[in-house]
Amino acid sequence: MKIICIGRNYVAHAAELKNAVPKNPLIFMKPPTALLLKDKPMYIPEFTNDLHYEAEIVLKIAKNGRHVQPEFAREYYTQIAFGIDFTARDLQSQLKEKGHPWEIAKGFDFSAGLSEFINMSDLENSEHIQFHLDLNGETVQNGNTKDLIFDFDTLIVYISKFFKLQQGDIIYTGTPAGVGPVKIGDTLEGYIENKKLLSCDIK
Ligand code: ZN
Repeated sequence: MKIICIGRNYVAHAAELKNAVPKNPLIFMKPPTALLLKDKPMYIPEFTNDLHYEAEIVLKIAKNGRHVQPEFAREYYTQIAFGIDFTARDLQSQLKEKGHPWEIAKGFDFSAGLSEFINMSDLENSEHIQFHLDLNGETVQNGNTKDLIFDFDTLIVYISKFFKLQQGDIIYTGTPAGVGPVKIGDTLEGYIENKKLLSCDIK
């Protein structure tokens, strides 16, 4: 399975990291070894002094396809999860400065926090999905997929031009504003439509 991630997909988050809003979706990947499944703790790796959380809605790909046409894009995902795209921000900044790939800052072991998947048909509003992340009980990121620069269908169409989508692949669809660092002893909790789906202790 592939873990496909989208960068800078909310205007306010692109602005907080002083990045331009992209013309096309910005794609990177994490290897399957990056998965950190439901409620497992996150151990801060020794190679970073600035580990950030990024709360994201994650799509699960329901069927295989390449060159998906816009009118069929919606058929390719039926389930979503709450994800945390853990990022070694200090390493990423150094790599970005040099124009180098940022895989080691984004795709390291256990960098892809992931809750259980829920059916989109069970959501109150599957067009405008509200989600938020609490850090030690205080909300630090509050997102709604209505604010996506590139919506889910657009991502499916664009990604499938380059990479065959396979059943079981997952897509981290980008983070809203409010990213920040974690420290040992913190607890992150992820919610979709006020249903708690993920809890992660930082160790
Ligand atoms: Zn991200």
